[in-house]
Amino acid sequence: MGLMTKAEYIESLRKLKPTVYMFGQRVEDVVDNPRLRAGIEATGATYELAEAPEYRDLIVTQSKLIDEPINRFNNPPASIADLVARVKINRLLGRRVGTCFQRCTGQDCLVALSVTTYDVDRKYGTDYNKRFLDFLKHMQKNDLAANAGVTDVKGDRSLGPNEQPDKDAYLHVVEKRVDGIVVRGAKCHQTGSLSAHEIIVLPTRALRKGEEEFAVAFAVPSDTAGVIHVVGRSSLDTREQDGCDCGNRRYSKYAPTVIFDNVFVPWNRVFLCGEVEFAADLVAYFSAFHRQSHGGCKAGKIDCMVGAALTMMAYNGTEKVGHHKEKVIDMIHRAETLYGCSLAASYEGKPMPSGTYFIDPVLANASKIHEGKEMAEATRLMIDIAGGFVADLPSDRDFDHPDVGPLLKKYLKGSAQAPVENRIKMFRLIEKMAMESADTISDIHGGGSPAAHRLTIFRESDTQSKVEAAKRLAGIED
Ligand code: SF4
Repeated sequence: MGLMTKAEYIESLRKLKPTVYMFGQRVEDVVDNPRLRAGIEATGATYELAEAPEYRDLIVTQSKLIDEPINRFNNPPASIADLVARVKINRLLGRRVGTCFQRCTGQDCLVALSVTTYDVDRKYGTDYNKRFLDFLKHMQKNDLAANAGVTDVKGDRSLGPNEQPDKDAYLHVVEKRVDGIVVRGAKCHQTGSLSAHEIIVLPTRALRKGEEEFAVAFAVPSDTAGVIHVVGRSSLDTREQDGCDCGNRRYSKYAPTVIFDNVFVPWNRVFLCGEVEFAADLVAYFSAFHRQSHGGCKAGKIDCMVGAALTMMAYNGTEKVGHHKEKVIDMIHRAETLYGCSLAASYEGKPMPSGTYFIDPVLANASKIHEGKEMAEATRLMIDIAGGFVADLPSDRDFDHPDVGPLLKKYLKGSAQAPVENRIKMFRLIEKMAMESADTISDIHGGGSPAAHRLTIFRESDTQSKVEAAKRLAGIED
């Protein structure tokens, strides 16, 4: 079929019939629901820019697997240039949509599977890699989007998967049949699960002998029987439902909890089933890649925040205020450090036995730790520059009201050169970028918790060479 246009992508989602709940009600029409559509539009940007002549060379590449042009979101990287392109595309898209565009989670699952299925087959003589490559061809040929089902709900954190009073706290295989497996459990924080055609499930943690039923990886269409999407609340979400005060007038982010209620998966879609020692690899590869992805998209979001801060300085008449300029510089250097770290992780990438290139995990995790703290600081600086109306700007409906609207516009007027309507719009965008919980909390927890980022840095760092460097300088010979 080849590359889809954005319009074709949106029409392709209409053909899916997922089971969806939101605000206590079933949602039958996902694509035209305003809350969900704002998220779908953000993923749609990954299709839209692939069509644009100025970006096509960056986003579209030739697949060695199907010998056709494909969107890089379905391309496991096979070179340093591929790794670098991932970060550049994410920055471009982050700047374009000012929030999460959701398609990278599935991409990062594809990369993790491309490495690990090969390694499992080498050890056990299984055929997971062939199944995976068949699935990848399907993704590439049809230009599909995938969502990552990685984070289990985990129940009591002091207990392992097998020790939970309710074993469904970790998604697991409940039945093996001749034609496939049946799985049960729930994956939470499923960014854009309804913007995706496929859900790729990976284990959530390292597993031990005796935990084979939890060591499962597979892919199913997002409207498979038994898959239930329950859209999570995010601050400001009813703004989109109301069609008022949205701030970002084009895009948004949503993240459902996805329940797998006895879901059947045919064997040709199963990519790991019981090989416990490889669960850790899948998690590690997925997480490292997703942390690299964040370095691009969040730098792009800071670009929007910098643009908003500079615009507000013009609208407020504070363009020449020295400490505001300093704050903008502080925002820019945070974006560039994030981006630089993710680029460095890419340039230090190495080929794996499967031929897929893997990033430097220490640099990717350093980027993510930086993001967890510095996105909050960039947000604080943007609000500091903009002013207090970010907190409590009256509604657009009040600005449009025939009685109070003209009064509000009189009192909201800033610089004489700036139309008051534009100042109002920019305040609202800043509120959205600062307070959209589904997106801002991913600064901290996206791709795993901050503690996981720190542990990975320590585990993957060559600490011995550092000890030797210090001892050599001190003249210590062991
Ligand atoms: Fe992609 Fe994650 Fe960034 Fe969303 S937050 S755009 S899924 S890297």
